[in-house]
This record gives sequence, C-alpha cells and structure tokens, in this order.
Amino acid sequence: MFGECHAHVIMDGLNYRHAIQLHKISVQDSVIREHFRAYEKRGITFVRDGGDALGVSKRAKELAPEYGIDYRSPIFAIHKNGYYGKIVGIGFSNLKEYRGLVDIAKSQGADFIKIMISGIMNFGRAGELSCESLPPEEIKEMIHIAHEEGLAVMAHTNGKKAAEAASHYGIDSLEHCNFVDRETMEILAENQTLYVPTAATIANLLGCGRFPDEEVQKIFDIASQNIQHAWELKVPTALGSDAGAYLVPHGRGLEDEYKIFKNILGNSPQVDTWLMKGETLLKERFQRKNERDGMDNHRNNHPLTQVVK
Ligand SMILES: [Zn+2]
Repeated sequence: MFGECHAHVIMDGLNYRHAIQLHKISVQDSVIREHFRAYEKRGITFVRDGGDALGVSKRAKELAPEYGIDYRSPIFAIHKNGYYGKIVGIGFSNLKEYRGLVDIAKSQGADFIKIMISGIMNFGRAGELSCESLPPEEIKEMIHIAHEEGLAVMAHTNGKKAAEAASHYGIDSLEHCNFVDRETMEILAENQTLYVPTAATIANLLGCGRFPDEEVQKIFDIASQNIQHAWELKVPTALGSDAGAYLVPHGRGLEDEYKIFKNILGNSPQVDTWLMKGETLLKERFQRKNERDGMDNHRNNHPLTQVVK
C-alpha cells in the first residue's frame, strides 16, 4: 500500500472552519485518532503532514505510533506575511524572522520545513492564483536556511515561475504545482525535484456544485497533462491527496489520488513502480539530518545542494 504524502490532520475534508474550531481551545485527541483510524483501516502506514498553526500536527506526531503510522511533520507551515499560508501556519516579515521560525519548528520536533511560496488556486477561474509568488531570491534563501539546519523543504507552490525557481534552488518537494507545463517538468526531472500533485483536491470538486464544473475541468486537464509529462520524463513523483482539504477525506483521499493516476496513465505495474520509487525517495529526504546520517542520502549526490551547502 502506498503512503499518504500530503495530508492535514487538522482538517476533516468537509468544513474547514468547523474543523479548526474543534481544536481552538485545546487539541482534541479524539479527532486526530478518528483520522488515524481511517488510515489504519486501509493499511496506510506512512503519512506526511503539511502542518498547522494550532499544534494539531505536533500532537498527531505523538499519537501516530499507536496506529502503526510513520508520521512526518513540519509542525507548522511558514509563509510570508501578506501572502497565502495563514491557514496552515505562522508568518514572517523578513528572513531573520524566517530563520527564527525554522529554529522554533526544529526545536518542536519538525522532521522538515514546509514553506508557502505562491497563492492558492481560484477553483472558480482556471489559471488564477490568490496572490503573487515570492520572488526567486527569497525562495532561494528560504531553502538555503532550512538546508543549513539539516532539514528538507516541502513547498506549497502553483505557477511556473515559483516552481521553476524552487526546483533550481534545490527544493526537496513541490506540492500541487498547478499551472506549469512540460518545460517545468523537464526542470524537475533534471533536478530530481519530487512532485506531489494532489490532484484529488481538483477532481473531487467535479460535480459538487460549489464551483463551475467547466473551470474545475480546465484546471484538472492541466494537472492531468502535467502528470502525463512527469511520467514521460520520469520526474520523481509521489501520491499525496492533500487529505483534509474539501471533499478529500483522510484515508480515502489517497485511494482517490491513486485512481486519478491510473485513469491518466493506465493500469500498469510500471506506474506503480515509478510511484513507489518516488515515495521511497520522499521518505529518505523528509527526515531529520541526524536520522539520515549513515544513509545513502540524496544530498551528497544532489548537484544543487552542493551549491547550497
Ligand atoms: Zn496542503
């Protein structure tokens, strides 16, 4: 069984506000346990979270072993004030503050750092993002600072410019990565950047009535094309559904994501092997450096991180 490489245990797949409200005063173990049971029931033993600002992911890390789950967490995501990301994390105004947040995440037990470098999609209008991307120079510094601390970096990103800059500067995984093209995928392949498209967040909206299906379909078609390019170019790719997002339940989200890949690429053992390889690479990269030592880690033969060191 594949692992869930992008989830938010704080969310419930139904109502974001309600889910957050539950944990506002104190983290509710019972809610976390319910989500973990959904994974356990399906034999899913690996979950990588995208973090949150209320300490839910932090607590989930403590509970996960009871469910036989290898759970990796950035504790909270980090965004630049005024840009997208408040929903899952803590903001900074300058790089000094960013460095401070990396230190806090690390001291709270983060396995890696999650950064937000571009806006979120407007599902009602294909191609539109909620805000500008961060400038490439800033993305470069953010990756560099986290790598200096021995932590891998997962980036929420959409749009060609941010995706290509992040890949160029040695980002470890790109999440969503909508509104890019074959050229972007060529760059990801060259830099061995992990791609986690979270296509279930789009496909599961079709027919739900919240957004015009025509726009959702356009967004999904672009994502499908990129998944096809990733496969052809052998971009390291892993299954992550963004479980917890609207209409993407924990556990089932991963099954949905897998089905989407099969629909696009066909039902072949080669696709499974490719995805399993991507997941193995992700598991190796997204753990703290002290746990990576002694392993044949990618950093030593990663052409870009040598520059970053
Ligand atoms: Zn997410």
